[in-house]
Amino acid sequence: TTFNDLGLIAPLMQALTEENYTTPTPIQAQSIPHLLAGRDLLGLAQTGTGKTAAFTLPTLQRLMEKKARPAAKSTRVLILCPTRELAVQIQESIRTYGRHLPVRSTMIFGGVTQFSQVRAMQRGVDLLVATPGRLRDLINQGHVDLKGVEVLILDEADRMLDMGFLPEIRKLVALVPKERQTLLFSATMPREITDLAYSLLNNPERVEV
Ligand code: AMP
Repeated sequence: TTFNDLGLIAPLMQALTEENYTTPTPIQAQSIPHLLAGRDLLGLAQTGTGKTAAFTLPTLQRLMEKKARPAAKSTRVLILCPTRELAVQIQESIRTYGRHLPVRSTMIFGGVTQFSQVRAMQRGVDLLVATPGRLRDLINQGHVDLKGVEVLILDEADRMLDMGFLPEIRKLVALVPKERQTLLFSATMPREITDLAYSLLNNPERVEV
């Protein structure tokens, strides 16, 4: 399989060429066609498997192909992840793969002043990478609304469970429209994550690497 076979658009192919990516990893080859078709996905994968590109590439492509919701004032993609470090890595991937596309992305995480995060939201954003606690703060202050979200991605769900974020995640997901594409990635599948996946995913494609 090549990236070309997966049906990616030219601006994404160009970015992949510039990164010297020649061959999709197994999770990319298995996930990207389903995600381009709009399917939900349950991905069992560790870091290092190329899972970030597996969800970032098709999500960027669908943002280009679909019209935003009419009511959308805020982000169209929400990526929830456990830590600031992971948020930074995901944001770097979005920047890299999306460098030839007109998309705006930003990050929200705790432990730093919120000023520049609020300002970025006010300028407008298409993809938002966030950790749950600070996202909740900015929602409560009226700086973020999730009504325009079309794609919801939960990355490293088992780590979010370990950190005690699951109740908050359920409350955040309740603010996202039900009609959406949902992706959940986890390295392990404890009972709580299986339950979460059942409640959030609609007839998901399951990929294990
Ligand atoms: P991840 O599992 O998403 O953290 O990715 C692990 C590393 O693999 C990152 O440094 C990526 O830049 C790199 N990578 C992802 N996909 C590919 C690919 N198809 N070919 C070469 N490197 C890749």
